[in-house]
Amino acid sequence: MNKKNRFIPLIIVMLILSSFLSYFTIRSYSQKEDNLISENQSHSSVVEQETEITASGEWITPDTSKSDGPKVESGTEEKAIQNTKTYDTETDGSIFQYVSSNKPFNVLTYHPTDLDDIDPLYIRAKEGMKLRKEGADNLHALAKDFYTTFKTKFNIVSAYRDFAYQQRIKDRWCSDNLCAKAGYSEHQTGLAIDMFDASTQKEFLSNAQYKKYFEWMKVNAYKYGFHNSYQKGLDIDGYDIEPWHWRYLWKDLAKELYEKNITFAQYCNNRVSKR
Ligand SMILES: [Zn+2]
Repeated sequence: MNKKNRFIPLIIVMLILSSFLSYFTIRSYSQKEDNLISENQSHSSVVEQETEITASGEWITPDTSKSDGPKVESGTEEKAIQNTKTYDTETDGSIFQYVSSNKPFNVLTYHPTDLDDIDPLYIRAKEGMKLRKEGADNLHALAKDFYTTFKTKFNIVSAYRDFAYQQRIKDRWCSDNLCAKAGYSEHQTGLAIDMFDASTQKEFLSNAQYKKYFEWMKVNAYKYGFHNSYQKGLDIDGYDIEPWHWRYLWKDLAKELYEKNITFAQYCNNRVSKR
């Protein structure tokens, strides 16, 4: 073997070694890249998931109280509500106008201009009772469904009440917990009704028939855009619990409130109390 030939095996060994080295270097680099890609993918799927939740109107804030295992009651702890859509809750005449015991109409004597008679086909109501057209139309649809279920008409004891009327009932007999001052009542929106009887929560729900109707309303009314305004009590909604009082709020929002199990007052005040 001459001098030149003696180097050949050495060169071959070096070549083999160097190709092994480059193979492993490239492999580890591409693995890092894979990890990066999969990290990005999982991040974007989280973003997509959040967007999806937002679009469907679900809560973004994780609700830890729904997790399995022992539940710890945290008393009056409150958490913020993430509202997913913006509705005009401020303008007199908006379908979404929020009025409560501390939130009157901008013009106290506001009256709706599109009031409609209540159709007596599936509804029992005193003559002259009115709602705004959109509320009335949806109430008729609800009452039809109610009639199909119970074979009886949907009974309404109150609907639109104007400023003067509200002032009269307030002056005569109604307490602050139960009735709003004139200019502060949801009935003045022309979108609220009282069904069957307006008394106290206990009296209303101790009536087996009313209770049955209320249970039906709880799971069906939102499909027609109706929402039970006062279901969490004085400290949250500004009034005592009123299972008979329902307010038209458009189907999407009524559904959102139903799914979140919150009241319109909580939605507008951006807070919810664990109860
Ligand atoms: Zn009412």
